[in-house]
Amino acid sequence: MKRYYPPQVEAKRQEALFRFYGFEEQWVHSVYALVARENGQKVPIYVGESARPRQRFRSHLKVAYGGRGGSTLLQGELRRRIKKESLIEMHGLAGVGDRVEALSREAGWARALERRGFRLANSWPEHRASSRVAKVPEARMLSSMSLVEAHALGVGLLLVCSHCGLTLPLAPRDLLVGIGSPKLNRFQSLVGCSECGHIMRSRLKLPAGVQAKSVITEPSNEEVVVFLAGIGRV
Ligand SMILES: [Zn+2]
Repeated sequence: MKRYYPPQVEAKRQEALFRFYGFEEQWVHSVYALVARENGQKVPIYVGESARPRQRFRSHLKVAYGGRGGSTLLQGELRRRIKKESLIEMHGLAGVGDRVEALSREAGWARALERRGFRLANSWPEHRASSRVAKVPEARMLSSMSLVEAHALGVGLLLVCSHCGLTLPLAPRDLLVGIGSPKLNRFQSLVGCSECGHIMRSRLKLPAGVQAKSVITEPSNEEVVVFLAGIGRV
């Protein structure tokens, strides 16, 4: 259902949709920054990744201008900024080929910007500048990667019973036929162990190439400078 906004709020939300910069058509997955503009200054407030950045921007703005709902750090931050009459912009930081790379670069960019003194509304611990986590955690991949993406990357899924140890390998290709392409963590807590009845947990089986991509890589200093210069911070 389409949400109703008072006309002056709707006008601002519509105008905000045009503040979408630096994305390139051929990017399969995009790493992006949300930037707030207030008192003539721009400041990055969040780093994210998406296969459909325009759509993602729309949903960020929906929360920001909706004035209710949403309890994450980012949603609170967006609403505070809007209340202070900030303008929200979305800037493309990097284009990558797949979800795992996107998660790795997203964490790298968040760390790099935090290290330069920007406080981001990112909530995952591996996004902090002080984090020593070297790879994208399995839980992130499970909650972000769809079956189609897993299939394309040759990623396998294993359901494991933590009680009796029974394991059940699942091939994304076989599941695709029956259930479409939900995120991989959809299977978590859905399947009971056939031996003991306990809930089974998802584990990933990553081919070596995908494991290598999951190593968190930070942008080069030059990349960061180019972005910061673009928003007038250098
Ligand atoms: Zn079991």
